[in-house]
Amino acid sequence: MMSNPLRRPTPVAPWQDPAAQPFLRIQNVTKTYGKVYACDDVSLDIYQGELFALLGGSGSGKSTLLRILAGLVKPDRGSILIDGVDISALPPYERPVNMMFQSYALFPHMTVEQNIAFGLKQDRLPAAEVRERVAHMLELVKMPDLGKRKPDQLSGGQRQRVALARSLAKQPKLLLLDEPLGALDRKLREHTQFELMNIQERVGTTFVLVTHDQEEAMTMASRLAVMNAGMIEQVSTPAGLYEYPATRFVAEFIGSTNLIEGRIASQNEEAGTVQVYCDVLDAEIQARHADPLPVGTPVTISVRPEKIDVHEAPPQADNVAVGQVVEIAYLGDVSIYQVKTASGAVLRVQETHVERSSEPHYDWDDTLYLSWSAASAVVLAG
Ligand code: ADP
Ligand code: MG
Repeated sequence: MMSNPLRRPTPVAPWQDPAAQPFLRIQNVTKTYGKVYACDDVSLDIYQGELFALLGGSGSGKSTLLRILAGLVKPDRGSILIDGVDISALPPYERPVNMMFQSYALFPHMTVEQNIAFGLKQDRLPAAEVRERVAHMLELVKMPDLGKRKPDQLSGGQRQRVALARSLAKQPKLLLLDEPLGALDRKLREHTQFELMNIQERVGTTFVLVTHDQEEAMTMASRLAVMNAGMIEQVSTPAGLYEYPATRFVAEFIGSTNLIEGRIASQNEEAGTVQVYCDVLDAEIQARHADPLPVGTPVTISVRPEKIDVHEAPPQADNVAVGQVVEIAYLGDVSIYQVKTASGAVLRVQETHVERSSEPHYDWDDTLYLSWSAASAVVLAG
């Protein structure tokens, strides 16, 4: 049998390897503007070859952190190490770092080739090497025949690729991308996400990408840091954040979820579960949780809408609730139901349409039984 040359190598997870040295170390970085903490004691390790995403809402400090990495903003405190070397005191042009801005900032009067060559000429690279690198970059972004065009003769997606080619031409060790796909429409953005991932994999350069779009971050990143008010809430893989959120903020920010407040009623350490009494459901919820939690501790249970099963008759399950359908959203691939319990709690449930039908399965005011397993219920502090 022939081996497939396109087969991806076995994924490695250096963050799980205690012997692996981080490539980029951000240590206790703080930056204030007046009373605003744009970055608040941020520490983060990023490994060689990662496509790492900083994800957060507007004003959460993503761009500030990126600018600190580039050397464009000086932090009040903290340090930045690359390959074990403290670069905190280096000016931007002496850092092995390049930045691709949201606006792309292409020179309108220059051709694509001239745009890509610009930084190389500034660095006084020999003409032959400049030509070779420009040609290689044009190949990399799949635009070998468009080198003579001006930016206004390109589509938005092509301009984005030229900006990427220009920022990679100098062969930085670290490429910073601030909302790189923000100017593209939705369809093109999805396509470009995969293109960008593909290019990153081929060049092997470490990317740190800023985005407020959780789907984009989840699609592209090896790992993500969720930022909120200048602080990092959690760092994990896409699946780690989605399935094991550490805070309420993360649980709500990544995907959608049901948050149910309660208090620990009892714990079964052998089974690795807790029973949580929830006022709004007037019932106990069983949840998987191994760490000890004293009785009475206030907690919040997070259950994702797609983890809840819908039944017309009472099921056997770890957790069951019953209520009436009060809202229906038909989205083609799925329907979202809001189900209101007798005690007034509203739970969001998602049903996937596996079979073709012109109607959602259930109607307003239908009585539905909802069930979910203890393993699907995440226990969050507070
Ligand atoms: P994001 O990129 O996540 O939207 P920013 O890093 O741009 O967030 O901003 C974080 C916070 O710092 C915001 O409150 C913003 O208003 C503030 N900020 C950023 N840059 C400046 C600046 N140059 N002067 C004053 N405040 C700033
Ligand atoms: Mg920003």
